[in-house]
Amino acid sequence: MLSEKTIGKSAIQDLDVIIIGAGAAGLLCGATAGQRGRRVLIVDHANKVGKKILLSGGGRCNFTHRMASPAQYLSDNPFFCISALKRYTPLDFENLVKKYQIAYHEKAPNQLFCDDSAKQILDLLLKECGLGCVEIKLQTPITRIQKTDSFIIETSQGIFRAPALVIACGGPSFPSMGASPFGYQIAEQFGLRVLPVRAALVPLTLHKPDLDRFAPLSGVSLDVIATCRGQSFKEAMLFTHRGLSGPAILQISSYWQPGDTLEINLLPDLDLPHILKENRLARPKTELKTILAGLLPSRLAQLLCEHMLPNKPINQFNEKEYIEMAHTLQHFKIKPNGTEGYRTAEVTLGGVDTDEISSKTFESKKIPGLYFIGEVLDVTGHLGGFNFQWAWSSGFCCGQFV
Ligand SMILES: Cc1cc2nc3c(=O)[nH]c(=O)nc-3n(C[C@H](O)[C@H](O)[C@H](O)COP(=O)(O)OP(=O)(O)OC[C@H]3O[C@@H](n4cnc5c(N)ncnc54)[C@H](O)[C@@H]3O)c2cc1C
Repeated sequence: MLSEKTIGKSAIQDLDVIIIGAGAAGLLCGATAGQRGRRVLIVDHANKVGKKILLSGGGRCNFTHRMASPAQYLSDNPFFCISALKRYTPLDFENLVKKYQIAYHEKAPNQLFCDDSAKQILDLLLKECGLGCVEIKLQTPITRIQKTDSFIIETSQGIFRAPALVIACGGPSFPSMGASPFGYQIAEQFGLRVLPVRAALVPLTLHKPDLDRFAPLSGVSLDVIATCRGQSFKEAMLFTHRGLSGPAILQISSYWQPGDTLEINLLPDLDLPHILKENRLARPKTELKTILAGLLPSRLAQLLCEHMLPNKPINQFNEKEYIEMAHTLQHFKIKPNGTEGYRTAEVTLGGVDTDEISSKTFESKKIPGLYFIGEVLDVTGHLGGFNFQWAWSSGFCCGQFV
């Protein structure tokens, strides 16, 4: 299928498109281009395709969010993602999932997950690649990339040449799944700007005194509103032996910067002073700890009453103290000392500057034929299926042009 020419002693295989990275974006891009009749090769250094897909959504892949819109993406240029999200929508991917009769459900509102396994999404992508006769080479590290008229890619499995090179190698989050900063290195090799990167959708760690206090709550989870830098997320928070995690914390981690204090509403939607007053009438001698244990996980209620709130019978507080207690619990402040870093981060914030890239074709404005799609770009979604939607939208749109 590949045409071969010999330059010097090395056989060079000619293609129309080479894609680096057999993840979500690379596979859909390859399938789209292949089905347009392009000769496509996808190379990946990992031993399996789509490792993050298999791991995603707790093994069930939260493959899209029906309401994905630019508001749920962080980027230096918040307008960049608009075009691709409009041209390849969550419904387009949902229809692809339906085409393969993959059973799915809405776990939280608009968040779509497979009923059975994330592997079904990977199988779908591989079948779509098959329809486009896409060739995939795994365990193929790239040793050199050169540009003449075309791109020449030297790998452990041979030399390949194509006029279009698509960089779909994601960001460095979750390195145990083959993630690397290679995409940024390629961007820099060709003189493209890469914006500062950091781990996002990642658990936060605590200073030792806070950790000593809260680590015994490891495993305790509750619904909260986490706020930082004007952004709030109402979701579950989980105490861990390193600090704080759970969806509310992962979401807010994308906004948190070193030195910031988080504000956590431990009792969202509750009128605590009113509840305490009712309790004073109904059971005046009951201790605060017991009343709070009806509103919060009991281990947390106990810890709060040991460290932050006076524990005494409810009739021994006055109304001003009720209001102060409500303030303490609904504006609980904590200053993380960092994140768990790329090791456990679901995504990487920052990346290849979108000002360098066409939002229509995903081609570099400086280097004709060089394309960037997916997470390697400075476009990062909230938790909830937005990151895969970005991979599908950017991958599909690029695949229409290469
Ligand atoms: C644990 C976990 C769970 C997640 N769950 C969800 C979820 O449920 N929903 C959601 O929307 N998002 C989820 N995400 C985020 C989502 O997986 C990513 O945003 C998405 O996979 C990005 O797609 P991509 O194709 O840009 O990059 P990736 O899918 O990361 O693909 C990049 C590919 O490039 C390859 N590569 C890297 N370096 C090199 C190199 N040097 N040479 C050759 N190949 C290379 C990698 O091996 C990989 O195959 C999750 C992430 C993690 C880590």
